[in-house]
Amino acid sequence: MTFQNEVKQYLVEHLAGQQSLIGEQVVSAIRSSGEILSSERLTDQQLIDHFPRLFADLIEYFLSEVDPGTRKRTIEAALNHGMTRWQQGYELVEVIRELAIVERSILDHGIEKFFEENSQWVKSIDIARRNLDSFFEDSVAGSVQRYVENYTEQLQSANTQLLIANENMSRIDESRLRLIRTVSHELANVLNALTITISLITTGNDEAIRSEMLDSCQRNVREMGELLTELKDYSLLISGAASVQIEEINVRVFASEIKSSFHAMMQEAGVHFDLHIEPNLDVIRSDRRKTRQIITNLLTNAINYCGREKPNKTIVLEFRRDRDCWQISVEDSGIGIPQEQLGSIFDEFKRVSEVVKGAGLGLAITKRLVEELKGTIEVVSEIGQGSRFVVTIPDTR
Ligand code: ADP
Repeated sequence: MTFQNEVKQYLVEHLAGQQSLIGEQVVSAIRSSGEILSSERLTDQQLIDHFPRLFADLIEYFLSEVDPGTRKRTIEAALNHGMTRWQQGYELVEVIRELAIVERSILDHGIEKFFEENSQWVKSIDIARRNLDSFFEDSVAGSVQRYVENYTEQLQSANTQLLIANENMSRIDESRLRLIRTVSHELANVLNALTITISLITTGNDEAIRSEMLDSCQRNVREMGELLTELKDYSLLISGAASVQIEEINVRVFASEIKSSFHAMMQEAGVHFDLHIEPNLDVIRSDRRKTRQIITNLLTNAINYCGREKPNKTIVLEFRRDRDCWQISVEDSGIGIPQEQLGSIFDEFKRVSEVVKGAGLGLAITKRLVEELKGTIEVVSEIGQGSRFVVTIPDTR
């Protein structure tokens, strides 16, 4: 059964004429219902922002008698409306309740009133009610669809976050396992060497050998101590216990203190140590302890991996300015690092060369320290030729 054209025409005119009255009615019904708490955050205008579009679609609905194109447009409008309410923090149930209030109000003031005033057409009231019902079914369907899509998106993103968190946790577990393995391996080596040495000391009676053995004991105990210090430093760094304390540092004084502290080690390793400071770099602003530790770690590696047997071994420590940053570089003429390992040497417990003892933590600590100073660290290296580590720190002046 369809509308007579005349009824249709008068009804839609009546509906259009009632838009603002229905708007007021809807606002007061929503406010007094007490069931749509999210509406309290919205202004009256926001509550009926979608009315012009809703009425245009509803009228279209009546005129076209629910043709598929009109239904599609209604669902699209409801998708948009659903999105707006979603962004305004509405629960899905609140959107549905609100739509029910709008429908009730249109039924009371738009449709029933019209047929009361035009009782000659009252037989058509059922068609009008059915059209209205089906219009609101489509509206609810569109809004629900939007919420389902948004929930799905949220779920997917929560799922991705979970996967990332999971991966991070397995990385942490893996890194803990590696830590336990490395520490127990290193400690077992040192203890093993100590046990053998001590048993030699206690059984042998040659004084010269005893003194050599005691030296070896001391060396082993020192190595154990170094490993423990490195682990302690690292645990402090990971826990974020030492905050960054920026101060002005006189580069020349700072650099020459470092140079003197390395003098004996450089001599012992037979390395020529050069210090370059760019003339226009007098003062830097940084955390003194952290900067010193970065340089100490890089210089220690440069000595450790200088290639004991190589002639003309040199290490250069340089301070320079680079636009709005300052840089420290440590360059050596040592054994170099294979290209394929350059990406992983900053990982915890990563060791490439076994020429000296170590836990593989030095560069991981260095990188963390550099990051605490908001800087970056890069390395270039060539096997047999040497390596250059460059630390770039933004100038905070
Ligand atoms: P460790 O020295 O305890 O092994 P690091 O984290 O300091 O740990 O260094 C990781 C690895 O990077 C070292 O095992 C070494 O193979 C390589 N490496 C670091 N610095 C240099 C360097 N200056 N020259 C050559 N290899 C280096």
